[in-house]
This record gives sequence, structure tokens and C-alpha cells, in this order.
Amino acid sequence: MQTKMLIGSELVAGQGKSEAVINPATGAVIERVPEATRDQLETAVQAAERAFETWSRTTPQERATLLHRLADRIDAQAAELAALESLDCGKPLNAALNDEMPAIADVIRFFAGAVRCLNGSAAGEYLEGFTSMIRRDPVGVVGAIAPWNYPLMMAVWKIAPAIAAGNTLVLKPSEQTPFTTLKLAEYAAEILPAGVLNIVAGRGASVGDALITHPRVRMVSLTGSIATGQKVLQAASKTLKRTHLELGGKAPVIVYDDADLEAVVQGLRTFGYYNAGQDCTAACRVYAGAKVYDNLIAELTSAAASLKSGQPEEDGVELGPLIGAGQRDRVAGFVARAAALGHTEVTTGGKAAGGQGFFYEPTVVAGARQDDEIVRQEVFGPVVSVTRFTEAEDAVRWANDSDYGLASSVWTRDVSKAMKTAARLQYG
Ligand code: NAD
Repeated sequence: MQTKMLIGSELVAGQGKSEAVINPATGAVIERVPEATRDQLETAVQAAERAFETWSRTTPQERATLLHRLADRIDAQAAELAALESLDCGKPLNAALNDEMPAIADVIRFFAGAVRCLNGSAAGEYLEGFTSMIRRDPVGVVGAIAPWNYPLMMAVWKIAPAIAAGNTLVLKPSEQTPFTTLKLAEYAAEILPAGVLNIVAGRGASVGDALITHPRVRMVSLTGSIATGQKVLQAASKTLKRTHLELGGKAPVIVYDDADLEAVVQGLRTFGYYNAGQDCTAACRVYAGAKVYDNLIAELTSAAASLKSGQPEEDGVELGPLIGAGQRDRVAGFVARAAALGHTEVTTGGKAAGGQGFFYEPTVVAGARQDDEIVRQEVFGPVVSVTRFTEAEDAVRWANDSDYGLASSVWTRDVSKAMKTAARLQYG
């Protein structure tokens, strides 16, 4: 197992405390990974600063060429990377190999192309006798922090745009899922100039905190929880860093009475439970019209119950475990509190699956109300709530009445109603 970090051009072992990385499908320790010390993080930031001097002055064509090489390498190693990701996260191997790996290589190629088309609108003369124009310049050293739900994909979503645009990076994967990112470190060491991409391992409270508070890191990009996002903003305010935050979600799904029920149920079966619901855009908060409600509950209940869960490498497995015991217990807590309300009904699932690993059954909570915790809080597990509405106005108001704003969907056969509703949903 590759557990070394990338600092400058060197693959080096962390010299800090080591962290056990657990296989969520069995609960067994895969490997211990030592984290970066303060000194090692400092060396990584210095390497990124030095590399910025030259990398920021390369042409888009030069950067794109190297990014394409990185994407080709990921394609060539896709089977190995998918197996590692599946081991580390408990994801069905098929999904890691056929959904994630191609998307990872593709996003690198996308940014390799996009950077060659950057524009800035030229505006003539704002000041008499001078020509005004907008030039896009790289920012400098970017500190990037990735989560555990799509480890390599989230790392690459940060790496590709930043280095394509001429920035350099110090990236920290989640301490729970470092392996594919550390594998990427090997390829980057061969393909990219020294210091353009540095990868440091470690926990959020130690290495992550040192990265987001580092005075010479110019920008921080985080995908993670709202609590960590708040810490990034607080830290950024001290040195006025730029920030880029992708945080939680609680995607509303408005199902009008005239919707194609089969399509709705198929959509929810896929997007409510994909990655065991550990997805910030999971379609997990359904508002169903009064006429379609009963049929939707019946159909969704059997569709969710038909999801095949199991060990990641088994044929046909659709649902893996949750990332850890803590996450499983957190999900179980949400469902137990929802079930105790009296007005809800758990129509399928509702408990941890027996055996090894951190499995939780695909669950539907019917009869949920707008003020219920299960409707308001991100569960990040295989749990979909369904709330009945009579007035379309209520559905739109409830959908928008949320602390989150990431994804949403509308289901109807009436295109005009779909477009009008979508325009009112305050989701990006
Ligand atoms: P998390 O915030 O606990 O951890 C994310 C990363 O932040 C990890 O690498 C962690 O080590 C680091 N971190 C934690 N505390 C830190 C600190 N004090 N300083 C610096 N870094 C710190 O979140 P998680 O549990 O890994 O991920 C799940 C969350 O991420 C969910 O809430 C989910 O909605 C969100 N998420 C969002 C998106 C998106 O695109 N919007 C994608 C995936 C996950």
C-alpha cells in the first residue's frame, strides 16, 4: 500500500502520529498512515511557493499537456484505483470503476481544455487615454481539503482547475480515505514539475487546521461539513484568504400529482441511495402531491427494499456500508428519532444490517412533516423522507425553507410547470 506523501518532488513518509484507516465493509484496519508534521507541512507550502514562480508563467498549452498525461495515467490505472477506493470507502467496486474513474479522468481533461479558453471581457477605456482589460492571473498556493465520500474525485475536482489555471497546491485527503490520493501522488511525482502538487496526509484538527491557517496559503478550497466550512471562514478572515466551500445538502424532490411515477421511483432509487446516501446532492427530501402520495410510498418502499447491499466486490451490489461506525450510529439516531415522532412510518429499512461492517438498510420515512429533524437535517445515509402536500405553493415554500442550497428536482409531465417551479427553487 502506498502511504507516502508528496512534498516537492519527493515521496516521503509522514513523521507525525499515525492514523488507522478502516475498511468500512468489514471493520478491519487496512493500514496505518502517518500524518505530516508541522515541519513537513511547512516544507510542502514552501515547495508550492517555489513552484508557483515558474508554473504560473507556463502557457495553458504546457499545463494542458501535463494534465492530459495525468488523465491518461488515471485511465491506465483505473482498475487499481477503483479497487483501492472501493476498499477504503466500501463502495461497490462496479460503481468505483465504471462511474467514478471515467469521471475523474474526464474532469482533468475538461479543465485542461477549459484553461485554453479563459476569457476576460475587455472594456475599452474606463480611464481616458488608457486601454482597460481583464487579465486572469493565478492566485498562488491553494490549500485544498477533501472529504471521504468521493475521495479521489473530490481531490481531482480541486487539483485540476487550480493547477490548470497556474496555481500550485497543497492538498490533504480525508484521514479516513487517503489511499487513492496517495496513489495519485505517485503519478504526479512522475508527471508534474516539483512542488506544483503537494499531498499531505493527516487529521483535520492537526494538518487541516495548519493548512487553513497558514499565512502563505492564499486560498482554501474545502469540500466537507458545514462545521469545517465555518472554521475555514474564521481562519480565512485572519489573513483575508479567498475561500471556495462545497458543504452539505438536503436536496428537495417535488413530485406533482401528474408525474411519471415509474420515472420518479427509479430516480429516487438511484439518486436517493447512491453511495449509500453519502452524497451532498442525494435526493432525500421528497414532497409528494396528495394524489400521488400513497402510490409513491408503496412503489418507493419496494424499490428501496430491492436495493442489493453487500460486500463491495460482490456481483450486482448497489449499496455499500457507511464510512464508519460513527456515521452508521448517526444515521440510526436520525431514523430512531423520526420513528418516535408518532406521525411518521418507517416503511422499509430503519435499522443497521447485521454482520460485519457499517451497513445500514435502505430506509423510507413516510409521513414526515416540514419541521421534523429528518426533513431539516442532512442525514448523509440511505434514508429518504416523504412529506405530503396539497398546495403546490406549500411544496415550493417548504423546499426553499432549508439551511442548505445545493441540488433540487421537480417531477411533472407538464414542462411549463416544471420550468416555473425550477425557477423558484433556490438551489444552485
Ligand atoms: P468534514 O468537514 O469532517 O471533513 C472534510 C475534510 O475536512 C477532511 O479532510 C477533514 O480532515 C477536514 N477537516 C476536518 N476538520 C478540519 C479543521 N478543523 N480544519 C481543517 N480541515 C478539517 O466532513 P466529512 O465528514 O469528511 O464529509 C462529509 C460532509 O461533506 C457532508 O456534510 C457533506 O455534505 C459534505 N460534502 C459536500 C460535498 C459538496 O460537493 N458540496 C461533497 C462531498 C461532501
